[in-house]
Parts: sequence; structure tokens; C-alpha cells
Amino acid sequence: MSKKLFIETLGCAMNVRDSEHMIAELNQKESYELTEDSSEADLIIINTCSVREKPVQKLFSELGVFNKKKKEGAKIGVAGCTASHLGKEIIKRAPYVNFVLGARNVSKVAEVIHKDRAVETEIDYDESQFAFKDFRSSLYKSYINISIGCDKQCTYCIVPHTRGEEISIPLNLILDEVENSVKRGAKELFLLGQNVNNYGRRFSGKHEKINFTELLRRVSEVEGLKRIRFTSPHPLHMDDEFLQEFAKNDKICKSMHMPLQSGSTKLLKDMKRGYSKEWFLDRAKKLRELVPEVSISTDIIVGFPGESDADHEDTLDVMRQVGFEQVFSFKYSPRPMTEAENYTDVVDPQIASKRLAEVQELHNDTLDRLKERNLNKVVEVYFEELRSDGFVAGRSDNNLLVKVKGSEELLGRFKNVRINRLSRLSFEGEVI
Ligand code: SF4
Repeated sequence: MSKKLFIETLGCAMNVRDSEHMIAELNQKESYELTEDSSEADLIIINTCSVREKPVQKLFSELGVFNKKKKEGAKIGVAGCTASHLGKEIIKRAPYVNFVLGARNVSKVAEVIHKDRAVETEIDYDESQFAFKDFRSSLYKSYINISIGCDKQCTYCIVPHTRGEEISIPLNLILDEVENSVKRGAKELFLLGQNVNNYGRRFSGKHEKINFTELLRRVSEVEGLKRIRFTSPHPLHMDDEFLQEFAKNDKICKSMHMPLQSGSTKLLKDMKRGYSKEWFLDRAKKLRELVPEVSISTDIIVGFPGESDADHEDTLDVMRQVGFEQVFSFKYSPRPMTEAENYTDVVDPQIASKRLAEVQELHNDTLDRLKERNLNKVVEVYFEELRSDGFVAGRSDNNLLVKVKGSEELLGRFKNVRINRLSRLSFEGEVI
């Protein structure tokens, strides 16, 4: 009888890829098969996120539920960023947890399941050259790590403390994964890193030193690959060479994530983001000039310590000037081990909520204005998702979510679609 593995993944795309690595290692080294039903699982893993306090609180209530539902003798493990920063504290608070595996120790998963109460959270453990077994949760696109960790010190961010220092993954390992993905039928891939456009700054051992722009060129030379996406680039490293390549390379999808965080140069300094309001606006303007059809998404934090009405107004001003196609906005959440955790000039929670509502309202107004331009537009869609409502969905090159009436025959195929129905976040159309 094969053993059953249930894995729940919280948080970002990096966590999705880490979960795929754990599934592959446990399947090929320990013969675990995936199950969607945690009550029949022999092993339950929660791959956690620590970017804000809420997911951390959610973890302990979830652990309680899994512990009640699990079958006799089943094991429970906690992985990911919360595992990295809470470590053995998790076992103290939830003694039925069998192991804790930090975000930088994924390659040890097949070992820790055999140890009771194991806590593997070494923050400088180097997996950058580890050739993980292969498993993909999608047939049509692949997530590919190009670096681990982060060398920035953004004062609100816990990631450098949970994922460690930044090390680039060697080019040959990346190209191997790209070629294997294309052989397996994926036509789109997502290059992942905390700071993708900082690629090549540091490797473990001797490896060919190239920067991110050159990496994009090399990856785009792989035959059979049609689309390249990446996340997350840092606005500081968006130099002209990078933007030119982004514009002229047909395989690079014309959607760019540019995490702003705040529009105030004073606050960006307190956040240690390394760029100013003017630099960000200059880069966004350049990008729109080079690629008029580009969709730009961003992250915004409101209520960061010391944020004044004028700072907030600067954020709204950048939003008006750039007209982001997608905005992920949050209230500041103090994180342990970060510099800002000790900042005293705390913003009143009600003011922070009011500012968040203003950011979201302005974004909705922008979406309502922008969506009109897509009516009757013809876009090429890569279909990846079969829905139960008789629709098949996919994304355009510039990341519009588009659905058409259809069947599984469309999955994994590129089709031209004329958009005939609009909504804020997704579009409907017909294949032409
Ligand atoms: S760049 Fe800043 S926000 Fe992004 S992961 Fe690194 S420290 Fe966190």
C-alpha cells in the first residue's frame, strides 16, 4: 500500500515551488502519493507563510483541526517561513507536531519524517545547487527558482530572516529545469526569486556569472518555450538594459510586477527600499513608453510607522500617475526580527484602515476606467484551467484573465480570443 501525503501550501509562488520539491522528494525517495483528503493521509505537511501576523495565527488553529481529523499514526509537519522563525516554539505550542522544517531546508524533508520532534531551521543552509527530484502541479506552466533568500534589508520584511541570504542558482541547473519543463509540454514558465533582477551577484562555488537580463536571453533561446514570466523584480534594479530586453524579447510576457510599497521618498528611506518616488515614476514611465500594452502590478503597504497624510498622498499620487493594472494592498503588520518592529511612531489602526480603503477605492476606479479599453480587443490566450461552469480560462500575454465557453480540448493551447464581456478582474470572450 503506498503511503499518502497531504500538503497545504500558504503564501507565495516560492512556497508553491517548495511544496512541489517536497512532494517530489517524498514520492521518489519514500513512495508517498498525494491525497486531497487529510483524514486519509499518513503524512500532513503545512507549508507556511510569515509575511504578516494573520497567517501565523491561522497556522495554530489549522494544526488543531488537522490533529483532530488525522488518522491513527499519521504524522504532522510544519514547513516554510513560520517554521523558520518559530522553530521549536511550534512543537511547544502544538506538541503533536512531529517535525519543523525551515524554508531553507526543504531538501531534508525525506530525512526529517523519520525523526521525531526534529527541528531543521538552519537559516544559512545552502540548497542553491541541490538538484531536486521533479514534480509539477501544473501541466501547462512551470515555476523555476533562480535564487534562494534575499540580501535586501527592507525594514518591514521578515523574509531575509526566514529564507536567509541571497544565493543565485547556477545557470546549468536552471536551463536543465527549463528544458525538462518544455519536454514535459509546458509552454510557459515563471522564474522565481525574492529579487530576480539581482540574479548572478553571488553563487556558491564557481559558476558562469551572468546578470538577469542575460539569463532571460538564455532561457528564451530554449526551443519550444513560448512564454516567460518572472517574480519578483526590485524597482531599484530596473536598469535600461533590463527594460530594453523586456520590451524587445517576444517570449517575455508583457506584465511586470513593480512592488512600490510606498510613494513617499521619506518613507521609502525608512523602509530601506533603496529608491525614491522619482526613480520609481521614471522607471514606470520608461516601461510604458517602451511597451504601451504592458500591465504593471504592485504591492502597497499603508500605515507604516511614521506615515503622515502627506506620505499617504504621495502613494495615491504614484497610483494616479502609473495607473496600475493590479494592486496588492495591505495594512502594515509588525514582523518579529525586523528593524521596523521597534519603530515607535505607530499609525492609528483606524487611520490605517481609512488609508487602505482609499487605496482600494482609487484602484477600483482605475480598473473601471482601464477595463473599457479591452472591449472587442483580440488577445492570444494560453488556456490552463477547466472550470465547472462550462468555461475554460487562461491568461493573455499581458496577464488579463480571460474565460471562454469550451471544453478540455482547449487546455494547453494558445487561441486568439475577442473580448466581449468586461468585469474588473476578468474578461469573457469567444475564440476566433
Ligand atoms: S526585497 Fe525586501 S521586501 Fe522583498 S523579500 Fe527582500 S527584504 Fe523582503
